[in-house]
Amino acid sequence: MLKVNKLVKTYEGKVATPVLKGINLAVRQGEFVGVMGPSGSGKTTLLNMVATIDSPSSGEVIINGMNPHTLKKDKLASFRRRELGFVFQSFNLLNTLTVEENIVLPLTLEGVSVRKMRSDARLLADRLGITPILDKRSYEISGGQMQRTAIARAIIHRPKLLLADEPTGNLDSKSSKDVMETLENINKSDGTTMMMVTHDAFAASYCDRVIFIKDGELYHEIFNTGNRQVFFQQIMDALSMMSADHSEFSTVRV
Ligand code: ADP
Ligand code: MG
Repeated sequence: MLKVNKLVKTYEGKVATPVLKGINLAVRQGEFVGVMGPSGSGKTTLLNMVATIDSPSSGEVIINGMNPHTLKKDKLASFRRRELGFVFQSFNLLNTLTVEENIVLPLTLEGVSVRKMRSDARLLADRLGITPILDKRSYEISGGQMQRTAIARAIIHRPKLLLADEPTGNLDSKSSKDVMETLENINKSDGTTMMMVTHDAFAASYCDRVIFIKDGELYHEIFNTGNRQVFFQQIMDALSMMSADHSEFSTVRV
């Protein structure tokens, strides 16, 4: 469903910084993949290349057999609107709009009738447990409700691929759990393929697979075999293995 081939990203500047150094990745239809790694390892950069928010220095991103980076600007914009959904750490809701108006925002761009927008929003709100707050504005609701609103907005047009960057990064543990259960439900019931960057092992334990990136390279990957507690422990072990593996210390070992 998603393929990343030899993806390289170097930010040009006074000093050119290689951030991704040839990432290969294949994600199957309906898979929920987590991306972890130390701060600055290139997680957001990878997600932004897949999201077509930024373009690679070399290598390709193939989504449903198509390389969006070869599309012209207007074709790319419509590809992004049709095929992709985005969720961010900071929710990115418009606070002058109500929850319902935020949710239907992507449909207003597609010229969908007001009646259909309303009924789609109501159905989705019901599923996500945010019906009671549909008429509220974003400053009147909790962080968890904001993120569930942002998720509703991200999936109202039924994207094939949902991309999330630290979706629980600004949330307490109870709200994180609500948000992860929401994402899990969307993944399982709609079969939406998902890629989520997170530093939170609890959030990552909801994934089918977690890949670890270090210094712009794929370092490790582990698969969820069905027990979330076991997977959580495996993620913790992988994280501590990765942070213990500092090459600068290897020279002092005897
Ligand atoms: P992560 O999400 O894993 O914390 P990022 O992908 O945001 O890491 O960043 C990886 C590296 O690339 C960092 O060293 C960061 O400073 C650098 N970087 C990110 N975005 C840019 C940019 N637009 N221009 C220059 N350097 C950038
Ligand atoms: Mg990041």
